Amino acid sequence: AKQNRNNPIVVFGHRHLEHMGFQTRITQALQAADIEREFSVAFQPIVDVNSNRITGVECLARWTSPLLGQVPPGDFITVAERSGMINKLTLVLLGKALVAARDWPLDLKVSFNLSASNLSSRGFVREFLKLLKDHAFDPVRLNCEVTETSVMWDFAEANRAIAILKNAGIRLSLDDFGTGYSSLSHVHQLPLDCIKVDRSFVQGIKPDTIGYGIVKSLLAMSREMGISCVVEGVETEEELAVLRSLGTSEVQGYLFSKPVGAPELEALLNGKASL
Ligand code: C2E
Ligand code: CA
Ligand code: CA
Ligand code: CA
Repeated sequence: AKQNRNNPIVVFGHRHLEHMGFQTRITQALQAADIEREFSVAFQPIVDVNSNRITGVECLARWTSPLLGQVPPGDFITVAERSGMINKLTLVLLGKALVAARDWPLDLKVSFNLSASNLSSRGFVREFLKLLKDHAFDPVRLNCEVTETSVMWDFAEANRAIAILKNAGIRLSLDDFGTGYSSLSHVHQLPLDCIKVDRSFVQGIKPDTIGYGIVKSLLAMSREMGISCVVEGVETEEELAVLRSLGTSEVQGYLFSKPVGAPELEALLNGKASL
């Protein structure tokens, strides 16, 4: 898989051509970008459904390009990985998140996404930890989210990076759980603190949907393992009611809040705005 990622996209026909045009435009805009200025971080609350309190926030990258306008992370993260810019970008995003987090309660968990290339680069982990130190940010407040796919990309190297992060006190979440391949084998190979159940299982969840059985088993599994479980992408009261009935304790989704800027998050934290 490693080789494919770095290979140029092969052009087979019109649709691929269009796709390549899109990728090329993003690559060029990214190379020309003033990363410090054009990128920002949005924060989405993670909520305890029993107390209705915010227990954590997930940091999500946002890019407003003067050339392309708003570009969603799903479109630029892979491009940043391919063009070797992801480590620099990730560190800039972490710096911004840490500045925003300066005034937040110490027990608020700050979740930060790491990509495959981040995990396979030794220099990155060192710089990542140094940045926490420079910001006097206690690593135990941080939760790194990794996906199964990013761990599988270079399993040995990812494991090494994860061991260093864990050793520094950082928590580890397995993101998009259930959507990658050979899920279960990794769960016990990784020093996980949390699994995040993918939104695809939650959409329209009801006792007769496939997602219901999956969410139910994932909750049971996390309980067995003594780790926490965050259910993502909760959009409706109906979904929330079903999730509650299954014993879900932490959720994240538009029903509570979309990803917001630091001032809006702080209003939510201070109770000046409600979920
Ligand atoms: P993710 O890590 O699974 O993040 C959750 C995504 O679901 C976010 O999309 C969030 O806005 C969206 N979301 C949250 N609640 C709901 C909901 O109720 N309904 C719907 N429809 N969507 C919801 P976003 O911000 O567009 O990010 C997409 C993906 O891009 C992320 O998925 C993550 O894989 C990646 N990403 C974002 N920021 C970063 C970053 O700083 N570094 C890395 N490596 N990847 C990032
Ligand atoms: Ca995530
Ligand atoms: Ca996710
Ligand atoms: Ca996802």
